[in-house]
This record gives sequence, structure tokens and C-alpha cells, in this order.
Amino acid sequence: KYVLGIETSCDDTSVAIVAQDGSVLAIKTVSQYEVHQAFGGVYPELASRAHLEAILPTIQNVMNEANVSPDDLKAIGVTRGPGLIGSLLIGLSTAQALSMGWGVPVYGINHLRGHMRSVDLEEQRTQYPAVVMLVSGGHTLVAHLSDPWSYRLLGTTRDDSVGESYDKVARMLGLGMPGGPAIDAAAKRGTPVLRLPRPMKNEGYEFSFSGLKSSVARHIEKHPEVSVDDMSASFVAACLDVLIAKAERAVIECQPKSLIIVGGVAASPQLRDGMAKLTQDHGISLCLPPIKWATDNGAMIGLATWDYIEKGIKPDLIPKPNLSLETP
Ligand code: ATP
Ligand code: FE
Repeated sequence: KYVLGIETSCDDTSVAIVAQDGSVLAIKTVSQYEVHQAFGGVYPELASRAHLEAILPTIQNVMNEANVSPDDLKAIGVTRGPGLIGSLLIGLSTAQALSMGWGVPVYGINHLRGHMRSVDLEEQRTQYPAVVMLVSGGHTLVAHLSDPWSYRLLGTTRDDSVGESYDKVARMLGLGMPGGPAIDAAAKRGTPVLRLPRPMKNEGYEFSFSGLKSSVARHIEKHPEVSVDDMSASFVAACLDVLIAKAERAVIECQPKSLIIVGGVAASPQLRDGMAKLTQDHGISLCLPPIKWATDNGAMIGLATWDYIEKGIKPDLIPKPNLSLETP
């Protein structure tokens, strides 16, 4: 039996069929990149409309490709938050309708738990206990994990997430969206010539990235002679410095067997290299999702659903735009 995983929290309609061991029988992701491009960000009303158009054909496609019928499904798992309310609503109501029609149970899944499980898709990579760092478009947090279900939050961001600051800095530098990969590419060509602040680097597990972003804005004004590449390299160096310092603190304090890095910014090659060095130095394993599983996808929601089934936890199906990691 399989799980049908549905993810519509933001601007991608993504559906997958996932087995309990994390193997992915089929996945389809419909990106709304072109819908939102002109707005320089996600336009919520257009996002829900695009989800509505894409969702049923995408589910149909995936079921056909995997050669799976409703009878082969153990459950449907669908993101219930955090995310945009209209986008969440499309996924949730579609899942509920199918659940009723097919007689298959439906589980409302925390998107953040999905990201956390993305690392074990296709291959069991994590050894427990683990420390997990989630670096995505909306979140930046570190948590301790004694098993796949049990988290203890160590710290989160007070203001912007890393991904958000990548995107904002990319816009300031005229690199367009999505900002992350553009900044990475520019940073690779440049040199970190500017000494930017490392906010909260030496204080506990909390993060703050909005000051760093403002500092980049000031430097762009004050030092027009510094190239976009060098500016990007300086920004990436500052971000990574903070992220790696926090990860190292957690590794020293929690003595985990694995360090897991998930979320869209985990696609950053510089971050991957930095974390590889850190885990080597401490003799623990580094668990990274393959790049395709780092950003939003239905497969991670499908794998997380198996945890809910196992725990017998079935949250309500009301969209929760601000759902936190602590609530399933
Ligand atoms: P959340 O899961 O917190 O609700 P989200 O789902 O929007 O947010 P993700 O899809 O996990 O976030 O990640 C998107 C973020 O990842 C964007 O901010 C994007 O700039 C960043 N990102 C994507 N690719 C890269 C990359 N190669 N390097 C750095 N950042 C990247
Ligand atoms: Fe996400």
C-alpha cells in the first residue's frame, strides 16, 4: 500500500506516490514560476487559482504513471500548514473530496515535518539522535531529534528567514527570482571582499537575518564600485558563517549521530560544502536531501504521512497558515 502526498502550501502543485520505506513511485510538480514572475513574488490569489487548475490532472497523472488505483492507497496526506491560506485550502478540500469518494483516510500534514523527512526519501540516510537545521523560504530553525517523530526546538529566527534574505538581497542586486540559485552563482564568481555583520553568531540558537539584509542595502549604496558578484559572495559568506556556527554549537551540545540540513537553501552548494567540512571535523554523518527534494514537493509530505499513520495522529483539515513545528 502507498500514500498519495499532496503539497500546495505555496506556489508549487506537487503530488507523489510514496511507499513506507521512502521510495517514490511517481512525482509530478507543476511550478507557478511563470504566473508570479512579473510580480517579483508570489501573488496569493493567482496561486490558489493555479493550484485549482493543476491539482486534479496532476493527481491523475501521478496515479497513472505509478499504475496505482485508489484501492492501493493506505492514505492521502496533504499539507495543512504553514503556508498561504488559499493555496492550502485547494489541497485540503481536494484531498477531502477524494478521501470521501475513494474511502481512503486523509491526514493533514505539517509542511515543516515534510521538509524534515525529505532527507530520507529514496534512501534511509538519517541515524538518530540527530540535529536538524531547516533553512527554507519561510523558516530558519535548529532542532534536536531523538527519532523521526520527536523534536525539541533549539532555536528559530526572530525576523527574516535565510531564504527570504537570499531572495531580498537578490532583488536588491537585480538578480531576479528565484533568488537563491542566482545569488549562489554570482557568489561563486565573486570574492567576499566586504566584512558584513554576523548577527547573533555567538548567541545561542536564535537567528536574525534582517540586519544583514539592511547592511547589504547600505553597502550597495556606499560602495557602488563593489561588483554584484563580490557583494553576493560577501553576503553568502556572512550567512554561512552564522548557519555553520549554530550547527556546530548544536553538534557539540547534543552529540548527534547525524546532522540533517533541509529546506530550499539546503540546495546551496556553498552551504553543502561548509556543512560537509563541519561534520567531517566532528566525525558524524551529514544527511542532505538530493537537490530535487530540498524545495517543496509532494514526496516529502507523503513520507511524513507514514509517521502520522504510525503514531495514530490525525490532525484536523483546517488550513493553518502559521502552523509551528511543535504542533503536528
Ligand atoms: P517554508 O517551507 O518555510 O514554508 P518555502 O517552502 O517557500 O518555505 P522552500 O521551497 O523550502 O521554502 O525554499 C525556498 C527558498 O530556498 C527560497 O528562499 C530560495 O531562494 C531558496 N533557495 C532555493 N535554491 C537555493 C540555492 N541553490 N541556494 C540558496 N537558496 C536557495
Ligand atoms: Fe517549504
